[in-house]
Amino acid sequence: MYLKTLHLKQFRNYRDCIVDFDAPKTILVGNNAQGKSNLLEAVELLSTLKSHRSVRDRDLVLEEAAVGQIRANLERAYGSIDLDLTLRTQGRRTVALNREALRRQLDFLGILNAVQFSSLDLELVRGAPERRRNWLDSLLIQLEPIYAYILQQYNQVLRQRNALLKKYRVGAAEGKLEESSRELYSELALWDVQLATTGSRVTRRRARVLERLAPLAAAWHASISGATEVLDVTYAPNIRAEKDDPEEVQKAFLDKIQQRRIPEQSQGTTLVGPHRDEVELTINQTPARSYGSQGQQRTLVLALKLAELKLIEEVVGEPPLLLLDDVLAELDLNRQNQLLDAIQDRFQTLITTTHLGAFDSQWLNSSQILSVHAGQ
Ligand code: ATP
Ligand code: MG
Repeated sequence: MYLKTLHLKQFRNYRDCIVDFDAPKTILVGNNAQGKSNLLEAVELLSTLKSHRSVRDRDLVLEEAAVGQIRANLERAYGSIDLDLTLRTQGRRTVALNREALRRQLDFLGILNAVQFSSLDLELVRGAPERRRNWLDSLLIQLEPIYAYILQQYNQVLRQRNALLKKYRVGAAEGKLEESSRELYSELALWDVQLATTGSRVTRRRARVLERLAPLAAAWHASISGATEVLDVTYAPNIRAEKDDPEEVQKAFLDKIQQRRIPEQSQGTTLVGPHRDEVELTINQTPARSYGSQGQQRTLVLALKLAELKLIEEVVGEPPLLLLDDVLAELDLNRQNQLLDAIQDRFQTLITTTHLGAFDSQWLNSSQILSVHAGQ
């Protein structure tokens, strides 16, 4: 797929800016705080309707404006598509495809596919498990947009069940449990089933996608690190079933809930389910978090990102975009070249940097170079 134009209106520090991309690689160069990352963020929003930087739409709209807009024209194998996302400081965001408003935001997902790689992604190795779960969820949403809905359902059930457990705990603390506990118990049983049903959908999808990603990541990692290191990426669910079958997983889920009944009630929160799962990253069987230098951890993240590119390409049938925010200059020449070889001109790539000096002449000669200054 190919992003031809991007039009930012009152988005972040852009008042009104149209960008035409006329080469497969674009380098956005500029000083700090000029709008380079903001531009990549706009593409990320079109891709997943989420930004890894911000949660509130009002931060995305230009200061003192009420409405912001991100528009794009994307070339896909099946035709040209206009994407349109409107953000508001008050009220809901709206989306349109080919100038037709969509009723469900879900239908906007999976149109523009992009892999994002920023310096923050080192947190994928070092950060808390939630960081890795979010990464995996974003990938799944691109591969299988319906997953956004599945995840939302699970999170709703989780919230309700947590509220109930909390109520139970407060009741117990105040000694009022006797009269209401029977009622709470039967209510909880209903939520248990919902949690197991929606939760097993999440767990199974996450495990399956990692199974496909792992060999791709291991191959890239071996190639970048010179085959001395073996990368393993595995999903570590807190519910383990004998086999990957919806009923088996649900059954294992309910069994685990039974086992954890008492600690759940005393802690007043749900302790079982995919919101507590982990993505395990090991190098030569040692947890990557505690292994190696920053450079080695960067190699690992690079391998994961290259694997994501490949996997999206395999599943979607077209190469996704690659968004490199401030990372290229941090890679040594060898790794820069590995990346260059991997993307060639197949994956349209947007790269931000504060200085062109760190780039190999191969990169500079084959890229469109745009200078970014104060939202222009
Ligand atoms: P760096 O090299 O430091 O990463 P950058 O060019 O990537 O810089 P961005 O993060 O894209 O910088 O832009 C940051 C600028 O955008 C800041 O000056 C910030 O104040 C401004 N900005 C962010 N949100 C808004 C907004 N809603 N309205 C106006 N300006 C905003
Ligand atoms: Mg930036």
